[in-house]
Amino acid sequence: MGKLILVATPIGNLADVSTRQTEALQQADLVAAEDTRHSGLLLQHLGLKKPLLSYYQHNEEKREGRLLAELQAGRTVALVSDAGTPGICDPGSAILRAAVAEGHEVDAVPGPCALIQALILSGLPTERFAFEGFLPRGQALPPYLESLRQEQRTLIFYEAPHRLQNSLQMLLQAFGPERQIAVCRELTKKFQEINRGSLAEICALWQERQPKGEFVLVLAGAEAEQTAAAAEPAAVQEHLARLLAGGMKHKAAAKEVAAIYKLPVSEVYQMGLALKK
Ligand code: SAM
Repeated sequence: MGKLILVATPIGNLADVSTRQTEALQQADLVAAEDTRHSGLLLQHLGLKKPLLSYYQHNEEKREGRLLAELQAGRTVALVSDAGTPGICDPGSAILRAAVAEGHEVDAVPGPCALIQALILSGLPTERFAFEGFLPRGQALPPYLESLRQEQRTLIFYEAPHRLQNSLQMLLQAFGPERQIAVCRELTKKFQEINRGSLAEICALWQERQPKGEFVLVLAGAEAEQTAAAAEPAAVQEHLARLLAGGMKHKAAAKEVAAIYKLPVSEVYQMGLALKK
């Protein structure tokens, strides 16, 4: 029986390579890599020379037989993706399942993962979170976001730079201007940057910039938002006052603000009356 090891690699900073990652790559007879050229450079950086086999999204099924044959022959196969943890929005899970099914030994060497890095830097609650991968495109996006409106866990999304501005607008429409978000850019790299604030603020910020690099979006869950509102009733009042000043009817404004802050409509309506005095 052979051994399959999923080895995490840096998400942008080569100094994040660990001793265990290096040892796992060293002990492998073969390295399966999403991009052999990219991983070849990593091996070169570590002073290792290993046979490389391409293993990416579109040849995963085709390659499975070859990798299982290597394991059957008693070899140790290390699997790396372009960046971060294999199996997280990257190939790795299918071959691990197949290796387990055939009774091979499997292991994973931990390391960087963009979603965890973003979550801990976001400043948003980390106790409960849901990773949603890449946002769906086109017409599938609005109903998908609607289905997440009541989600209380902190939400994490991966996003491509050319879609960032539109996605932020869609989040603003779905979750309202006060929902807190952290846009995490170029994590662990030289130009790492975290923008924290309300969706209204962060949308405005990114409409004026040309998004470049890699991004993770971390959005506050519904409950966290409610807690924030309870701590800051001024934010609720301000939101309501803005809608009323914009000409919205008192009842409609109360309904909208109550939905965003998960408050009883009657309570928000009363706030509106107080504002009018
Ligand atoms: N397996 C990787 C991991 O462990 O995070 C994720 C691979 S997925 C194909 C690539 C996406 O991850 C990017 O589009 C971006 O959303 C996110 N990502 C990866 N590296 C990042 C970084 N250094 N900074 C911000 N986001 C990053």
